[in-house]
Amino acid sequence: MAALHGQQNTLTLPRSVEREMSRHMHLSLPQEACGVVLGESAAGGIRISRFQPIRNVAPDPLHHFSLDQSEWIQCLFSDVTIVGVFHTHPCSLPIPSQEDLQALPNFAGLIHTYLIGAPDLSVSAPEDFESPMLLNAYQIISNEEQEPSGASFPLHPYSLIPLTLRMT
Ligand SMILES: [Zn+2]
Repeated sequence: MAALHGQQNTLTLPRSVEREMSRHMHLSLPQEACGVVLGESAAGGIRISRFQPIRNVAPDPLHHFSLDQSEWIQCLFSDVTIVGVFHTHPCSLPIPSQEDLQALPNFAGLIHTYLIGAPDLSVSAPEDFESPMLLNAYQIISNEEQEPSGASFPLHPYSLIPLTLRMT
């Protein structure tokens, strides 16, 4: 994982995997959906090869997500490389919430890529599983590794920096 860390990367996502993520999002509505993306490091970045849905066990799944621990642990110990965590915002844009930033320490030691999807509410039929998904990708960066920025202390231990997402 060290090679994936600390540099600006491009994330390559096959359309077929993106469609699986979108379908899982639509099937989970109105709740938040979550899961992990699996893949490998490739020239100039990371290539996603698979999406693994994980059950959202948050007490309030309409507004929060929490990965089912046994499914998450099963992924960690299986013979695949988890490159990112994915969740959705059913009613808002796919940009990190304050709560998302606060929860980053749960993942930051293990993965460096963070994906947020959302239904495209400008589309007339959000219940259509084939309708498009808005998707943003971010790199998880430790604020302690950043250049000291004067007197201000970072609000959160980790930040999210936008990644270039390339669909293939
Ligand atoms: Zn979120």
